[in-house]
Amino acid sequence: MRPVVKSSCPQDDFGRDIIFKKFQNARGELIDRLGQYCSYCEMKLDSALAVEHIQPIHPEGVSADMQERKVCWDNFLLACPNCNGTKNNIDVIPDDYLWPHKDNTFLALTYSEGGVIRVSANLSDALKTKAHNTIRLTGLDKSPTTNPKLSNDPARSDRRWENRREVWNIACDAKADLTGHDTPELRKSIITAALGHAYWSIWMTVFKDDADMCRRLIDAFVGTCRECFDEQQGFAPMPRLGGQI
Ligand SMILES: [Zn+2]
Repeated sequence: MRPVVKSSCPQDDFGRDIIFKKFQNARGELIDRLGQYCSYCEMKLDSALAVEHIQPIHPEGVSADMQERKVCWDNFLLACPNCNGTKNNIDVIPDDYLWPHKDNTFLALTYSEGGVIRVSANLSDALKTKAHNTIRLTGLDKSPTTNPKLSNDPARSDRRWENRREVWNIACDAKADLTGHDTPELRKSIITAALGHAYWSIWMTVFKDDADMCRRLIDAFVGTCRECFDEQQGFAPMPRLGGQI
Protein backbone atom coordinates (compact mmCIF):
# COMPACT_ATOMS: atom_id res chain seq x y z
CA MET A 1 0.00 0.00 0.00
CA ARG A 2 1.60 3.22 -1.19
CA PRO A 3 2.38 5.63 1.66
CA VAL A 4 1.04 9.04 0.72
CA VAL A 5 1.16 12.64 1.90
CA LYS A 6 -2.34 14.00 2.29
CA SER A 7 -1.35 17.00 4.44
CA SER A 8 -3.71 19.18 6.38
CA CYS A 9 -7.03 20.62 5.28
CA PRO A 10 -6.84 22.95 2.26
CA GLN A 11 -7.37 26.61 3.11
CA ASP A 12 -9.18 29.52 1.53
CA ASP A 13 -7.60 32.85 0.50
CA PHE A 14 -7.79 34.05 4.11
CA GLY A 15 -5.88 31.10 5.51
CA ARG A 16 -8.94 29.45 6.98
CA ASP A 17 -9.63 25.74 6.65
CA ILE A 18 -12.12 25.12 3.88
CA ILE A 19 -15.42 23.80 5.14
CA PHE A 20 -16.76 21.31 2.63
CA LYS A 21 -20.52 21.63 2.26
CA LYS A 22 -20.53 18.21 0.63
CA PHE A 23 -17.79 15.62 1.04
CA GLN A 24 -17.81 15.10 -2.74
CA ASN A 25 -16.37 18.60 -3.06
CA ALA A 26 -13.08 17.37 -1.59
CA ARG A 27 -12.54 14.90 -4.41
CA GLY A 28 -10.59 17.22 -6.70
CA GLU A 29 -8.23 18.33 -3.95
CA LEU A 30 -7.65 14.73 -2.88
CA ILE A 31 -6.87 13.67 -6.45
CA ASP A 32 -4.47 16.62 -6.85
CA ARG A 33 -2.60 15.50 -3.75
CA LEU A 34 -2.83 11.70 -3.95
CA GLY A 35 -3.21 10.97 -7.65
CA GLN A 36 -6.09 9.20 -9.26
CA TYR A 37 -5.59 5.97 -7.36
CA CYS A 38 -7.46 4.05 -4.72
CA SER A 39 -5.67 4.78 -1.46
CA TYR A 40 -5.90 1.11 -0.45
CA CYS A 41 -5.63 -1.24 -3.44
CA GLU A 42 -3.90 1.36 -5.69
CA MET A 43 -6.19 0.76 -8.66
CA LYS A 44 -6.27 3.66 -11.13
CA LEU A 45 -9.76 5.03 -11.66
CA ASP A 46 -11.42 8.11 -13.04
CA SER A 47 -15.12 8.65 -12.45
CA ALA A 48 -15.56 5.66 -10.13
CA LEU A 49 -12.97 6.92 -7.67
CA ALA A 50 -14.84 8.18 -4.63
CA VAL A 51 -14.11 10.19 -1.52
CA GLU A 52 -13.66 7.54 1.12
CA HIS A 53 -14.57 8.02 4.76
CA ILE A 54 -11.96 6.38 6.94
CA GLN A 55 -14.49 6.20 9.75
CA PRO A 56 -17.90 5.51 8.17
CA ILE A 57 -20.46 8.28 8.35
CA HIS A 58 -23.20 5.83 9.16
CA PRO A 59 -21.65 3.00 11.17
CA GLU A 60 -23.56 -0.15 12.02
CA GLY A 61 -25.87 0.36 14.96
CA VAL A 62 -26.01 4.15 14.64
CA SER A 63 -29.36 5.61 13.61
CA ALA A 64 -28.23 8.72 11.69
CA ASP A 65 -25.26 10.05 9.74
CA MET A 66 -22.43 11.35 11.91
CA GLN A 67 -22.05 14.83 10.50
CA GLU A 68 -18.62 15.43 12.03
CA ARG A 69 -17.28 12.47 10.08
CA LYS A 70 -19.10 13.34 6.88
CA VAL A 71 -17.30 16.52 5.84
CA CYS A 72 -14.10 16.30 7.89
CA TRP A 73 -10.91 16.48 5.78
CA ASP A 74 -9.02 14.30 8.27
CA ASN A 75 -11.53 11.53 7.63
CA PHE A 76 -11.03 11.49 3.84
CA LEU A 77 -9.05 9.29 1.49
CA LEU A 78 -9.87 8.00 -2.01
CA ALA A 79 -11.27 4.55 -2.68
CA CYS A 80 -12.45 2.29 -5.48
CA PRO A 81 -15.88 0.60 -5.32
CA ASN A 82 -14.29 -2.72 -4.22
CA CYS A 83 -12.38 -1.33 -1.25
CA ASN A 84 -15.26 0.98 -0.37
CA GLY A 85 -17.78 -1.84 -0.61
CA THR A 86 -15.69 -4.23 1.48
CA LYS A 87 -15.15 -1.61 4.16
CA ASN A 88 -18.83 -0.79 4.04
CA ASN A 89 -20.14 0.61 7.33
CA ILE A 90 -17.80 -1.29 9.61
CA ASP A 91 -16.92 1.12 12.37
CA VAL A 92 -13.22 1.75 12.70
CA ILE A 93 -10.99 2.70 15.60
CA PRO A 94 -8.16 4.28 13.60
CA ASP A 95 -5.40 3.16 15.99
CA ASP A 96 -6.28 -0.48 15.35
CA TYR A 97 -5.18 -0.18 11.72
CA LEU A 98 -2.32 1.10 9.57
CA TRP A 99 -3.11 3.93 7.14
CA PRO A 100 -1.43 5.04 3.93
CA HIS A 101 -1.46 8.74 4.93
CA LYS A 102 -0.04 8.16 8.42
CA ASP A 103 2.16 5.06 8.36
CA ASN A 104 4.65 3.50 6.00
CA THR A 105 2.15 0.95 4.75
CA PHE A 106 4.63 -0.23 2.11
CA LEU A 107 6.86 -1.46 4.92
CA ALA A 108 3.95 -3.24 6.60
CA LEU A 109 2.76 -5.27 3.60
CA THR A 110 4.58 -7.41 1.07
CA TYR A 111 3.66 -8.02 -2.54
CA SER A 112 4.64 -11.17 -4.38
CA GLU A 113 4.11 -13.17 -7.56
CA GLY A 114 0.48 -13.55 -8.43
CA GLY A 115 -0.29 -10.19 -6.88
CA VAL A 116 -0.54 -11.73 -3.43
CA ILE A 117 -0.51 -9.31 -0.49
CA ARG A 118 0.70 -10.44 2.92
CA VAL A 119 1.68 -8.88 6.21
CA SER A 120 5.44 -8.34 6.39
CA ALA A 121 7.13 -11.06 8.42
CA ASN A 122 9.49 -8.87 10.42
CA LEU A 123 6.92 -6.76 12.27
CA SER A 124 6.15 -6.79 15.97
CA ASP A 125 3.07 -8.80 16.94
CA ALA A 126 1.12 -5.59 17.60
CA LEU A 127 1.91 -4.20 14.14
CA LYS A 128 1.15 -7.55 12.50
CA THR A 129 -2.32 -7.43 14.04
CA LYS A 130 -2.87 -3.90 12.74
CA ALA A 131 -1.60 -4.80 9.27
CA HIS A 132 -3.92 -7.84 9.23
CA ASN A 133 -6.79 -5.59 10.29
CA THR A 134 -6.07 -3.23 7.38
CA ILE A 135 -5.97 -6.08 4.87
CA ARG A 136 -9.20 -7.57 6.16
CA LEU A 137 -10.99 -4.21 6.34
CA THR A 138 -10.36 -3.53 2.67
CA GLY A 139 -10.42 -7.12 1.39
CA LEU A 140 -6.93 -6.92 -0.06
CA ASP A 141 -6.49 -10.63 0.65
CA LYS A 142 -9.39 -11.63 -1.58
CA SER A 143 -8.25 -14.06 -4.25
CA PRO A 144 -9.56 -17.37 -5.63
CA THR A 145 -7.56 -19.07 -2.87
CA THR A 146 -9.35 -17.23 -0.09
CA ASN A 147 -12.64 -16.82 -1.91
CA PRO A 148 -13.28 -19.51 -4.59
CA LYS A 149 -16.28 -17.55 -5.84
CA LEU A 150 -13.89 -15.06 -7.38
CA SER A 151 -12.56 -17.60 -9.86
CA ASN A 152 -15.85 -19.02 -11.12
CA ASP A 153 -18.22 -16.10 -10.89
CA PRO A 154 -18.38 -14.63 -14.42
CA ALA A 155 -20.11 -11.51 -13.11
CA ARG A 156 -17.53 -10.82 -10.44
CA SER A 157 -16.80 -7.16 -10.08
CA ASP A 158 -13.81 -7.55 -7.80
CA ARG A 159 -10.83 -7.83 -10.13
CA ARG A 160 -8.26 -6.44 -7.75
CA TRP A 161 -6.25 -9.63 -7.32
CA GLU A 162 -6.39 -10.31 -11.05
CA ASN A 163 -5.19 -6.78 -11.83
CA ARG A 164 -2.32 -7.19 -9.41
CA ARG A 165 -1.32 -10.50 -10.94
CA GLU A 166 -1.34 -9.01 -14.44
CA VAL A 167 0.63 -5.94 -13.40
CA TRP A 168 3.14 -8.12 -11.56
CA ASN A 169 3.81 -9.96 -14.82
CA ILE A 170 4.02 -6.72 -16.82
CA ALA A 171 6.49 -5.26 -14.32
CA CYS A 172 8.62 -8.43 -14.43
CA ASP A 173 8.70 -8.28 -18.24
CA ALA A 174 9.75 -4.62 -18.06
CA LYS A 175 12.54 -5.53 -15.66
CA ALA A 176 13.75 -8.27 -18.02
CA ASP A 177 13.69 -5.81 -20.94
CA LEU A 178 15.80 -3.41 -18.91
CA THR A 179 18.32 -6.11 -18.09
CA GLY A 180 18.87 -6.74 -21.78
CA HIS A 181 18.83 -3.13 -22.97
CA ASP A 182 19.33 -0.57 -20.21
CA THR A 183 18.84 2.96 -21.53
CA PRO A 184 17.45 6.15 -19.95
CA GLU A 185 14.72 6.13 -22.60
CA LEU A 186 13.59 2.64 -21.65
CA ARG A 187 13.59 3.59 -17.96
CA LYS A 188 11.43 6.56 -18.77
CA SER A 189 9.02 4.51 -20.83
CA ILE A 190 8.70 1.93 -18.04
CA ILE A 191 7.66 4.69 -15.66
CA THR A 192 5.06 5.87 -18.18
CA ALA A 193 3.77 2.30 -18.35
CA ALA A 194 3.72 2.05 -14.54
CA LEU A 195 1.66 5.24 -14.29
CA GLY A 196 -0.83 3.81 -16.75
CA HIS A 197 -1.12 0.37 -15.16
CA ALA A 198 -0.93 1.72 -11.59
CA TYR A 199 -0.33 -0.57 -8.57
CA TRP A 200 2.76 1.37 -7.50
CA SER A 201 3.60 -1.13 -4.74
CA ILE A 202 4.01 -3.90 -7.27
CA TRP A 203 6.40 -1.87 -9.44
CA MET A 204 8.36 -0.86 -6.34
CA THR A 205 8.63 -4.49 -5.26
CA VAL A 206 9.72 -5.77 -8.66
CA PHE A 207 12.32 -2.97 -9.00
CA LYS A 208 13.37 -2.92 -5.33
CA ASP A 209 17.04 -3.59 -6.13
CA ASP A 210 17.21 -0.77 -8.67
CA ALA A 211 17.57 2.50 -6.74
CA ASP A 212 17.18 4.65 -9.85
CA MET A 213 13.86 3.03 -10.74
CA CYS A 214 12.66 3.30 -7.11
CA ARG A 215 13.46 7.02 -7.16
CA ARG A 216 11.64 7.46 -10.46
CA LEU A 217 8.58 5.57 -9.17
CA ILE A 218 8.48 7.57 -5.94
CA ASP A 219 8.74 10.85 -7.84
CA ALA A 220 6.34 9.95 -10.66
CA PHE A 221 3.33 8.88 -8.58
CA VAL A 222 1.76 12.03 -7.15
CA GLY A 223 1.71 12.21 -3.38
CA THR A 224 4.06 9.34 -2.59
CA CYS A 225 5.71 9.93 0.79
CA ARG A 226 9.41 10.29 -0.04
CA GLU A 227 10.35 10.38 3.65
CA CYS A 228 9.27 6.76 3.91
CA PHE A 229 12.31 5.73 1.82
CA ASP A 230 16.00 5.89 2.64
CA GLU A 231 17.85 7.40 -0.30
CA GLN A 232 21.21 6.38 1.21
CA GLN A 233 20.05 2.77 1.23
CA GLY A 234 18.78 2.54 -2.33
CA PHE A 235 15.33 3.86 -1.37
CA ALA A 236 14.65 0.99 1.01
CA PRO A 237 11.44 1.61 2.96
CA MET A 238 11.90 2.88 6.50
CA PRO A 239 9.54 3.78 9.35
CA ARG A 240 7.60 6.99 8.88
CA LEU A 241 8.23 9.90 11.18
CA GLY A 242 5.25 10.16 13.53
CA GLY A 243 3.74 6.93 12.21
CA GLN A 244 3.20 3.59 13.88
CA ILE A 245 5.57 2.12 11.34
ZN1 LIG B 1 -9.36 -0.09 -3.95
